Amino acid sequence: MRSAVVVGAGIGGLAAAGALARSGWKVTLLERDDRLRPGRAALVLWPNGVRALRALGLAGGLEGISTPVPAAGIRRPDGTWLVQPGAVDLTGEIGSPPVVVHREDLHDAFIAALGEQVDVRGGIAVQSARVRRDRPAVGDGRVTFEADLVVAADGPDSAVRRRLAAASTFASGGFAAWRAVIPWYRAPEIPAGTELHGEVLGNGQRFAYASLGERGSAGGSTRGGMYWVATVPGALRPEPPTGQLALLRRWFAGWPAPIAQLLAATEADDLVQEPVGEVTPLPETFGVVAGAGGFALVGDAAHAMPHHLAQGASLALEDVATLQTVLAELAVPAALGEYSRIRKPRILRVLQQSRKAAAVLQVRGRLAASLARVHPRTLERAAAAATEWGGPTG
Ligand SMILES: Cc1cc2nc3c(=O)[nH]c(=O)nc-3n(C[C@H](O)[C@H](O)[C@H](O)COP(=O)(O)OP(=O)(O)OC[C@H]3O[C@@H](n4cnc5c(N)ncnc54)[C@H](O)[C@@H]3O)c2cc1C
Repeated sequence: MRSAVVVGAGIGGLAAAGALARSGWKVTLLERDDRLRPGRAALVLWPNGVRALRALGLAGGLEGISTPVPAAGIRRPDGTWLVQPGAVDLTGEIGSPPVVVHREDLHDAFIAALGEQVDVRGGIAVQSARVRRDRPAVGDGRVTFEADLVVAADGPDSAVRRRLAAASTFASGGFAAWRAVIPWYRAPEIPAGTELHGEVLGNGQRFAYASLGERGSAGGSTRGGMYWVATVPGALRPEPPTGQLALLRRWFAGWPAPIAQLLAATEADDLVQEPVGEVTPLPETFGVVAGAGGFALVGDAAHAMPHHLAQGASLALEDVATLQTVLAELAVPAALGEYSRIRKPRILRVLQQSRKAAAVLQVRGRLAASLARVHPRTLERAAAAATEWGGPTG
C-alpha cells in the first residue's frame, strides 16, 4: 500500500488526505494546532472550485451548506453603480454561479469525508523536510514521518516550502483584510430594497457582503448569517480587535447600506484579520522528487496570492484533483513532474488575473474618478476568466 504524509489540515490538506485515503493510500495528516479547527468566517467557491470538488467526489457535501452568489454588481461609496448587476456573467463554463459557504460547514463536510483511514496527529508543527532512506520525510524536531509522498498543504508560510524552495517567500501585497460572519440571531435588519449580496469599491478600499442562507436558517445543520470581507491598503493593524473594529467603522463611514449596519452588528470576536500577500517568486516546481518518492506543494503553500479574486480555496481543490488524477496513473516521481507541468501554467494565468484585479483596487484619488467606469468591469472579467479551468488534467 502506498503511503502519504499530508502536512496541514486546512482546505487543501483535508481535501488531499481524504482524496488519497479514498484512493487506497495509507495517510497520516499532521496539523500544527492541537486539534483540527476550521478557518473562521466564510468563503466563496467559484464554479472551478465546485467542479474540482465534483472531481474529488466531495461536491455532495456542499448540498444544503452553500448559498449561490448572484452577480450583484459593484457600487461606488456614494451608492451609484460602477457595474450594473448582471453585467458580467460569473457562472463560468459549467453554468452555475459562485457559492458562499461557512468555513465551519465546509470543514465538517471534509472531516466527514476523511473516513476511518486517515491517521490524524495534532500538535505537530513540521520544521524539517528531507530525504530519508530514499523517501521524503518531515519532522517537528522530535518525531520524523516518512512516506512515499509528502503533501505540503501548510499554508502561505509553509515550513516545507522553505526547505524545498528557499527563494520563494510570502510577501505582503500592500493590503490588510478582515472577514466576519454575524450569526442570524444578531444580524442587522437589511434596509428594504438593499440586496443581501453586494460589493462597494472606492479609493483603494473594498467591502463585499453576502448572506449565508436565509435569515432564520441557523438552527438547522448549517451556520447561517451575514458574511462580509473588507480590504484596505496598508499593513496589518497592531491594535486589539476592538480598536480594529473602530477603525473599520471609521474607514467605511458613509458607505452605502448595509455596510454601516453590518459593521455596527459585528462584535470584536467575530473579526478575523488576515495578511494579504503572494508567494514570490513561485517555486520552480510544485513537485519535488526525493529518492523513490517526493513532495507535492498544494494550495497556499505553493501559490498563495491576494484574495481579490477569491480563488485560493478553489485553486487548492484544483491542485488536489490534479494530484489525485496523476497519482492514479503514474509512479510518484513521474506523477509529481506531471502535476507541476499541469498546475504551473494554470496558476500563472490566475496570478495574472489577480494582478489585474489588484490594479483596479489600488486605483485611488483623482485617477480613480477618471478610470472608474473601465476598471471595475476588469475586476469582474478577471474573476470570470479565473474560473475557466480545463479540469484535473489540464
Ligand atoms: C481576506 C481573505 C478572504 C479570502 N476569501 C476567499 C474566498 O472567498 N474564496 C477562496 O477560495 N479563497 C479565499 N481566500 C483564500 C483562502 O482562504 C486560502 O487560499 C485557503 O484557505 C488556502 O488553504 P490551504 O489549505 O492551502 O492553507 P491554509 O488554510 O492556510 O491551511 C494551512 C494549515 O496548515 C497548518 N500548518 C501551518 N504550518 C504548519 C506546520 N509547520 N506544520 C503543520 N501544520 C501547519 C495550519 O494550522 C493550517 O491548518 C481568502 C483569503 C483572505 C486572506
